[in-house]
Amino acid sequence: AKKAGRNCFAIYTEALSRQLDERMEMESELRQALSKQEFALFYQPKICLKSGKTIGSEALLRWIHPSKGIISPLKFIPLAEECGLIVEIGKWVIGEACKMAVRWNQVGEHKVAINLSAKQFQSETLVADVKSMMEATGCHPDWIELEITESLLLEDDVDVLHTLKQFRDAGISIAIDDFGTGYSSLSYLAKYPIDTLKIDRSFINSIQTDPQRAGLVKAIFSIARCLNQSVVAEGVETQDQLDFLTDLDCEYAQGYLFSMPVNAESLEQNKEWPAVV
Ligand code: C2E
Ligand code: CA
Ligand code: CA
Ligand code: CA
Repeated sequence: AKKAGRNCFAIYTEALSRQLDERMEMESELRQALSKQEFALFYQPKICLKSGKTIGSEALLRWIHPSKGIISPLKFIPLAEECGLIVEIGKWVIGEACKMAVRWNQVGEHKVAINLSAKQFQSETLVADVKSMMEATGCHPDWIELEITESLLLEDDVDVLHTLKQFRDAGISIAIDDFGTGYSSLSYLAKYPIDTLKIDRSFINSIQTDPQRAGLVKAIFSIARCLNQSVVAEGVETQDQLDFLTDLDCEYAQGYLFSMPVNAESLEQNKEWPAVV
């Protein structure tokens, strides 16, 4: 028994050290990914349900790894946050998204949504960084929107409020991402300058099978109307889900039913949106 125990331990430490090796390797590769230009933004169209038109898109980060292929942000963003790289990567995202917003708004109205991680939001230079990227690219504040998560509002922090107010003053709109998964109170929703609520995919998922969740989605629409906020339904995958949302007068939706996130070139080919020449 003792021997087996020792073997188990050996296997365990071996697995653990392999995990650590992989992590360190990924971290050092991540440090170089920016200069090697291995990042790319994909864009998922946001659809106005009344007109069926693409009115904007969400920029979603991808790491095009030379040997591992396309790596999901879910895999490397937590690591980038831990080692502080997220601020620099985030700046690249903001600059790239602004550049595309400028390009696309020459052709039609198209708001590009940019995801900000909590760490990035807490960076003291965030507002200045966004403004300088907009200036450098000639991006108008109406052409972008910032997506932040609900957990930021929980901190009831004067800095969070101050940062949001600075964006509001600059004319940049703010969306609350994954809405419904955190526990933000109604008073926070009224207190912070928020333009859009994005209902989390998990609610849309079970909208037809779970009457309680469907009820909550209805309640979210009422709250948003009271607060003069617009609502985007995320992760719409089926026609039935879309029908349900249309019955609730949902204005905007995103999801695989309409399109997967695609590269910029493919987005420009989107027939519901004027082509870029
Ligand atoms: P998110 O902001 O909630 O983005 C939505 C995620 O759901 C995306 O995954 C998108 O591809 C996926 N999705 C869209 N429609 C559907 C659908 O109909 N069904 C299903 N099952 N999934 C759908 P993705 O691109 O892997 O991104 C994952 C998360 O990584 C994002 O979640 C966001 O939190 C983070 N992320 C992505 N890009 C950035 C970025 O530039 N900066 C930061 N800080 N975070 C980012
Ligand atoms: Ca998002
Ligand atoms: Ca989301
Ligand atoms: Ca999410």
